[in-house]
Parts: sequence; structure tokens; C-alpha cells
Amino acid sequence: TLPLVALIGRPNVGKSTMFNRMVGRNRAITHDRPGVTRDRMYGEVRRKGERDFGLVDTGGFALDDAGESVRWDAKGPEGLKGFEAEVYEQARIALDEADVLVLVVDGREGMSPLDARLADHLRGSGKPVLLAVNKVDGEERESELTAEFYALGLEPIAVSAAHGMNMNGLLDAIRERL
Ligand code: GDP
Ligand code: MG
Repeated sequence: TLPLVALIGRPNVGKSTMFNRMVGRNRAITHDRPGVTRDRMYGEVRRKGERDFGLVDTGGFALDDAGESVRWDAKGPEGLKGFEAEVYEQARIALDEADVLVLVVDGREGMSPLDARLADHLRGSGKPVLLAVNKVDGEERESELTAEFYALGLEPIAVSAAHGMNMNGLLDAIRERL
């Protein structure tokens, strides 16, 4: 079986965009874990001459106040009490099953307290943790947008999942840790 890499982060930072860009067509086997109302998206990242790996997008679905499964991407975190708990739950599953953890943060939005708590949490696993600072859409503001994330104690890798900037840099960093 392939080594597994998990994308972890709060809603709206760009995990699904990143997942889709990395996985391309080798995508979207949805695993429904029995008894858990959460869907997780798995795919495979393959490139000729490079090590293949599995990728899991830990976002996607959460429980709303009525216990219904809703897409937090569509609804946004405002509509979801307890979305932080869901992020932690997804992180916990990823910590168990993944070999490499990628914490995804939003360079435009800046650092949030949840980013810091997640970083601590992931680092505590002893597994390799990478920090992808997403939404750095152009090189001119790169150092400005990444600077504050050094406080997380991880080397920031600036990327733009939407525009494809430095996604190869991120893929190289992942493969070095497989
Ligand atoms: P998720 O909740 O972490 O899965 O985030 P999504 O992948 O759904 O993206 C959330 C929003 O951020 C969407 O509107 C995306 O189009 C946008 N987005 C994702 N990546 C980038 C990026 O690199 N640059 C910019 N400017 N927007 C992005
Ligand atoms: Mg998503």
C-alpha cells in the first residue's frame, strides 16, 4: 500500500483546491467510515519517476446543530458551532492513519489561534509535519504573507493551490519525507 499524506487545516484555507490539484484524475474514492457521519476524500498522487503516495483531504463534512451532515465548505464556519471540534477530530484521524502531515494555512487571512493549536497538536505526533502557506498567489508578497507563520515552529512553504504556484516545491518536500 502507498504511504498516506494528510491535508489538515481549518475550513476555507484551500485544502480541497490543493487536493484536486495534486490528485488530478486519480481521485475521489470516498470512504464512509461506519458509524461516523464524516466523509473523507482519498486520492493518489502519481508522477512518472517519482514516488507515489495516497492523499487524504480531511475537510469536507461536519455535523450541524441538528446533527445533520453538512458541507462546511459550502456553509462556512460561521454557520457551524463546534467546527473547531470537527477540525480536531479530523486531525486526530489523520494523525492515526497518515505518514506525513501537511498543515495548510491561509496566507491572506493570516495566522489564527486554531492554526497554532493545530501545529502543536500535529508536532506532538512525532510524524513529519509540513506547513503549506496557501493563497500566496504571486511572488512579490511572498515573504510578507509567510513571515508570521514562522512562529509555528515549522518552515513555511508558500504555495498557491488555485494558481499552481510552487506546488512542485510542496510535492518535493512531501516526497523527501515519505
Ligand atoms: P477548504 O475548506 O480548506 O477545503 O478550502 P477550499 O479548497 O474549498 O477553498 C476555499 C476558498 O479558497 C475557495 O473559494 C477557493 O477558491 C479559495 N482558494 C483556494 N486556494 C486558493 C489560492 O491559492 N489562492 C486564492 N486566492 N484562493 C484560493
Ligand atoms: Mg474542503
